[in-house]
Amino acid sequence: MICRYCETEQRLIKAHVIPAGFFRSIGDSSETLEIHTNKAGARPKRAPVGVYDKSILCRPCDNTFSPWDKHAKDVLLRTSPGHEAIYDGPTVVAWTIKTFDYRRLKLFFMSLLWRASVSTHDFYRRVSIGPFEKELRTMIAASEPGEPTTFAVILARFDAPGYTAMRFCYASFPMGWGTTPGGP
Ligand SMILES: [Zn+2]
Repeated sequence: MICRYCETEQRLIKAHVIPAGFFRSIGDSSETLEIHTNKAGARPKRAPVGVYDKSILCRPCDNTFSPWDKHAKDVLLRTSPGHEAIYDGPTVVAWTIKTFDYRRLKLFFMSLLWRASVSTHDFYRRVSIGPFEKELRTMIAASEPGEPTTFAVILARFDAPGYTAMRFCYASFPMGWGTTPGGP
């Protein structure tokens, strides 16, 4: 099959869009992750290693994203150090992450968007950036993160007892990551 990144005939792998490490951080190891949907009539599906797509990437190409995925995991996960809460009285109203590498984190979000856009997995069916796919791939291939206003990202984190969710927004275009039902 054709790898969507190097655009050559390759043996493709089970490539994650949202990295597997993010899914592994959800809940504890005794639970099997499930994908739930609000689609009428659709039942939850087991997804023990998260959501992957076997039709988009070969291993060498997937590996090029690894340093960016690792940095995002180091910086963004709830257990990562450096998350400082901002309070309004006793209530946490926001979080600050003061230490991160702009280049690696931005390239993570850009590659995440590109991977989600080229994915044919049902989980990402509403993610499509159409004519920007090529431009984004060119920038990623050159490790060029661009200005903050180019493929701008807003990151939101929501906490509730026993439950955490993150949402990445590209302009007005949201893409969520994970929850922690019953997690520590
Ligand atoms: Zn490839």
